Amino acid sequence: TTKQLVVSEKLAAIGEIAAGIAHEINNPVQVIQGNLDVVRVQLGAEADQIKTELRLIDEQTHSIFLIVNKLLQFTRPDEYAEGSAQHRPADILLDTLPLVQHLLSNSEIVLHQELNSLNTVAINRTELQQILINLMVNAIHAMPEGGDLTLAAEDQQREGREGVLIIVKDTGIGMTAEHLTRIFDPFFTTKQGEGTGLGLSITSKLVARYDGAIEAQSRLGQGTEFHVWFPAAGC
Ligand code: ADP
Repeated sequence: TTKQLVVSEKLAAIGEIAAGIAHEINNPVQVIQGNLDVVRVQLGAEADQIKTELRLIDEQTHSIFLIVNKLLQFTRPDEYAEGSAQHRPADILLDTLPLVQHLLSNSEIVLHQELNSLNTVAINRTELQQILINLMVNAIHAMPEGGDLTLAAEDQQREGREGVLIIVKDTGIGMTAEHLTRIFDPFFTTKQGEGTGLGLSITSKLVARYDGAIEAQSRLGQGTEFHVWFPAAGC
């Protein structure tokens, strides 16, 4: 439809601007980081007295670096793709768990796995991992006081097409209906100072690339459930 066309043109324009800005930001950030190391060496023992400040500068510079990298991934995802192969999403879910383990082990979150799918999907492994990490990290962030994180994968048909449904479900803070309509918009975030608002827009772009579908259901104060569906390889 026309509306969808306008939205995707807008996204492409945002992407181009973002890529330009990301490159421009990367250079001064590298200079800051490099000089910070030099200053630390020059200060020697004195550095201990301003440790907190130096650490803050270091951390914040690193967080700029991470944001810029996310922007670049968002705008040039093709550079990150190494080609697709047939993968079982359930296997990749299991392989992705260690990458978020450090967030789980410091929390009161109980992990539940219901990995029953057997179908394979033709997908780039790194990109599927990126999708899963984005959803899992959001789910973990939504449960600062703990809760249940459920990961499920089951074979499921959609409109007569064989496929795999992946579910990432949390019992966290949830969202209002109004927020829910905006979560896939680039730069929409409620995590002031900590979020980029790019995770889910990248995620939905990646899912669309493989002809998949992504949906979210949420209830404020109760939790959120993301459904990601991919067609089975060859279907
Ligand atoms: P970010 O995490 O950097 O804010 P995302 O695009 O990943 O960016 O998410 C956008 C917003 O969607 C979040 O700021 C949050 O408000 C909401 N959101 C995403 N996942 C969840 C979740 N599991 N529970 C509650 N809110 C969520």
